[in-house]
Amino acid sequence: MKKVAVVGAGYVGLTTGAALAYLGHRVVVLDVDEARVEGLRQGVLPFFEPHLREVLALAQGRIRFTARYEEAIPQAEVVFLAVGTPPGPKGGPDLSQVQAAAEAIGRHLGEGFTVVVNKSTVPVGSGNFVEALVRRAYAQAHGGELDGRLAVASNPEFLREGQALYDSFYPDRIVVGAEDPRAVAALRELYEPVLEQSFPPPPFLPRPERMGAVPFLTTDLASAELIKYAANAFLALKISFINELAALAERVGADIREVARGIGLDSRIGPRFLQAGLGWGGSCFPKDTLALLAMGEEAGVPLPIVEAARRVNFAQRQRVVGKLQEALGTLRGRTIALLGLAFKPHTDDLRESPALELAALLLERGAFVRAHDPVALPRARREVALPLEYAETPEALLRGADAAVLATDWPEYRTWPWGSLRALFRTPLVVDARNHLDGEELLRLGYRYLGVGVPQRG
Ligand code: NAD
Repeated sequence: MKKVAVVGAGYVGLTTGAALAYLGHRVVVLDVDEARVEGLRQGVLPFFEPHLREVLALAQGRIRFTARYEEAIPQAEVVFLAVGTPPGPKGGPDLSQVQAAAEAIGRHLGEGFTVVVNKSTVPVGSGNFVEALVRRAYAQAHGGELDGRLAVASNPEFLREGQALYDSFYPDRIVVGAEDPRAVAALRELYEPVLEQSFPPPPFLPRPERMGAVPFLTTDLASAELIKYAANAFLALKISFINELAALAERVGADIREVARGIGLDSRIGPRFLQAGLGWGGSCFPKDTLALLAMGEEAGVPLPIVEAARRVNFAQRQRVVGKLQEALGTLRGRTIALLGLAFKPHTDDLRESPALELAALLLERGAFVRAHDPVALPRARREVALPLEYAETPEALLRGADAAVLATDWPEYRTWPWGSLRALFRTPLVVDARNHLDGEELLRLGYRYLGVGVPQRG
């Protein structure tokens, strides 16, 4: 059992804290947002994430929440930095949250040996930056040096929102970058139940079949930091590649889903992240690809593949607008019903959501946009500045619509009663921007159905 502090109660920090407490560690999660902390104390979660509430309930007694560094840091053996690193004005991430948190940690470190672990996604060199900030802040606050009582590590996070707890318990690998072997040892011990899969799985998150020991990859600091960006950029370009080919498939009469299946069966390629659609978004891929480009520029190393992946991605939204325009003649005055607002299913995260970017493009062309999402509507009402209309039910969404666009592949959209909904449309056109619906069925029901990279019929 270790004493752990997690700084930042966002998707990463809260999930990490909950999972570590479930595994038996003593965890304090700290956030500067007092309302968030107060909510957490009363059981109000700041975002929607499947199983988070249940895992927190099972970890009760081992996890606390605070907004005060002095209540979290002095006793901690391991301190995780899980604050936000949003895009800065020049493409590279804004490290001001990391800086403020590192300085506050430094001011409050106790007398024992502490490992400060960076879980935020940060450019190469940030581990050293954090170490320097912590040491300086400690010296200023205490008038003495930390010397050997501090080690820093990079422990990039690979969780997927919507499956964050599953990914924390059953990760593909755990990466730790550190120069000090004591940091590696502390993290190996902390993660041992996950590495060995020796913990009793929560009943609602059973261990996957064929789950073996989890690889523990130890590297130098810089490599661990680069691994995170490399992983995200690779996944992003895999999606962009299939989207690029989807455009070609549409023109030449091929079906991109068959093409993806055909190449995905090659074990060197693999089937995942080959779904053509509206392109990627969310709080990670857009900002991390941009950060990688900024890193390349600073190092004098152009990264044209990453650049192209971004270009293809953002053009993907335009292609959907083009399809609507072609089908409807003009978008001015048309009512477009958006199915889904979150950047992917099973989350209410709207950051850089492709659905919202699409909505903005449609609004620019004079369309009215009405939107539905199974969980993200309350957040959208609070956070989205676009003049969208919101609909709670399929009927409210589709009444008088000139077209419906499926933007987020929530499973429930497949089971909507499309037969009876058809009469609500002004023109029964469905643009399935995620190839998620049963196109054959919609055609049979009398819809015009347009997918991505699939032959057009109806
Ligand atoms: P988030 O915005 O959801 O949460 C960040 C939290 O940190 C907020 O609650 C904020 O109030 C708090 N915070 C800001 N400054 C603070 C300070 N000085 N002290 C204490 N708390 C402070 O962010 P997130 O999505 O959890 O991402 C965190 C990091 O993890 C980012 O670097 C991100 O790139 C990376 N990451 C995110 C994901 C993901 O899916 N969200 C996955 C892997 C990695």
